Amino acid sequence: MGRHTGAVCRLCRREKEKLYLKGDRCFTDKCAVVRHAYPPGEHGQGRQKFSEYGLQLREKQKARRIYGVFERQFRRYFTEADRRRGVTGEILLQLLESRLDNVVYRMGLARSRAEARQLINHGHFQVNERKVDIPSFLTRTGDEVAVREKCRNKPVFKQIIEDRDQQSIVDWLEVDTEKLQGKVNRIPQREEIDVPVTEHLIVELYSR
Ligand code: SF4
Repeated sequence: MGRHTGAVCRLCRREKEKLYLKGDRCFTDKCAVVRHAYPPGEHGQGRQKFSEYGLQLREKQKARRIYGVFERQFRRYFTEADRRRGVTGEILLQLLESRLDNVVYRMGLARSRAEARQLINHGHFQVNERKVDIPSFLTRTGDEVAVREKCRNKPVFKQIIEDRDQQSIVDWLEVDTEKLQGKVNRIPQREEIDVPVTEHLIVELYSR
């Protein structure tokens, strides 16, 4: 399945909860989940009953949508998580959180993961002083992430910093807003990852 190019708010309505895909708008009354708290489409307001498989599938789709990851890529993360020692679901979320686009978003250097992806694609970021334009780049403990010097004066970053008090910075990251840079202090624990995903359902889905 390719990237979703339609209205992103439909993705939240499909899951019947806020996935915070749009940045500022998500915190206002204009949020589509606030205005229409039922799935989109003709049968959206009908009775919905999910099978066990359906529940697992929805959970996986929700996670994919939150992090903006393709199916094939998502499965690769699962395979890697399954290979590593530890709790597979937690490792899966840790891998997703380590993606550069997520780290940039969590640092408050972008208003949404989608915006982070775009800014990274456009070559505005560096990791450990080397330009990285791959949103799926996996950061590690100690990595220093920064807006590249020649991009720091761009109006988009000024606006992002002005808008950013909506978003609190997580403990596992360190950020210097003035310098538009930050550091990955450590990989987050499950309780520090605030995404509304029941990861064991995803593990069950892929273990079928
Ligand atoms: Fe989802 Fe944000 Fe749209 Fe609300 S405004 S439906 S949280 S993307």
